[in-house]
Amino acid sequence: MVTLSVSLQMRILWTLVMGTLFVLLVQYQTSSVWPQQQAQMNSRVDPFAEDLVAIALSKVEIGDDTTVSKEMLLGITRQIARYVVYSSGCSVSPISGPPPITLYIITPTYRRPEQVADLTRMAQTLMLVRDIHWLVIEDAKSKSPQLNALLQSFGIKFTHLIAPMPSRYKNTRGAKPKGVANRNRALNWIRENANEGVAYFADDDNTYDVRLFNEIRDTQRVSMWPVGLCTKTGLSTPIVRNGSLIGFYDGWIANRKFPVDMAGFAFSVNFLKKRPHAKMPYKPGYEEDGFLRSLSPFEPREIELKADNCTKILVWHTQTKKNEPSLKVNVEKYNNTNILELKKIIV
Ligand code: UDP
Ligand code: MN
Repeated sequence: MVTLSVSLQMRILWTLVMGTLFVLLVQYQTSSVWPQQQAQMNSRVDPFAEDLVAIALSKVEIGDDTTVSKEMLLGITRQIARYVVYSSGCSVSPISGPPPITLYIITPTYRRPEQVADLTRMAQTLMLVRDIHWLVIEDAKSKSPQLNALLQSFGIKFTHLIAPMPSRYKNTRGAKPKGVANRNRALNWIRENANEGVAYFADDDNTYDVRLFNEIRDTQRVSMWPVGLCTKTGLSTPIVRNGSLIGFYDGWIANRKFPVDMAGFAFSVNFLKKRPHAKMPYKPGYEEDGFLRSLSPFEPREIELKADNCTKILVWHTQTKKNEPSLKVNVEKYNNTNILELKKIIV
């Protein structure tokens, strides 16, 4: 029998109560707030409820002096979540299923005025998703300690890597192959460190619906889905007729075999590892197409269609307005004020 301190017991109790409340809240939402989309996605309420319980648990601090692990607590609350969902009539098994599949979220990033804001928004979406490993690859020659501290603060499992854009591309006047060195670095990391799972190129300035992540988790080879706010068509998506892919809708086809957006596809780690030469080319405008072609043998007919046969938009290519770097601060005038602290955060 494990003995726990009173304060730890209180925290566990609090967590269990909060977890249960979260589950009830989710049930309330799924029953009334998102009637259209949720109707078809009802069978997937369970992982979402678990996500919320996991968030509640991530707030619990457990010292090294106890034998209770977060895993154990998560197990308990998972069972509660399953029981509540099950008893409400949803078709969810109360018994644990196969081990969860890890999603490797590959995010290139670089220092600029919008960086912290963009990453904060993205991280707080990822906090709602279970079983993810966030690969954040900085376009820089050395790791930024500030970025590392920011990533730590979110409580998401992450790996901070670096991959500078080669100077021959950085100094060009024309279009740059943005995020290519970063993504290739992540592909190599996955080859060396991951055994199975699903990988997704998720830029730091897009808007993600949390439901996207569970949608793509069962990708066997390569899955695709629509991306909103993309090119002059406002949309980049596979074209689907009678459940089958018949082409691609995108404002920029340009002879591409796979005219899709970076945020519009995911691939399985196994599939990637069987293609040791797959990589992204330094070719502005052709990064997605080049990468997907490099996955050969792979043909459009093999694409797994997601988001209810590509009828939902679960990711948006929002982009963030570019800001000028902030003005210099007069350090004498603002000596001993918060301004100097704040200036360390902004660019
Ligand atoms: N990026 C980078 N280095 C750069 C420019 C961009 O690492 O010099 C990253 C950026 O943070 C983003 C991805 O590459 O995650 C794509 O860049 P951006 O969002 O600017 O491209 P766009 O939205 O125009 O396709
Ligand atoms: Mn972008």
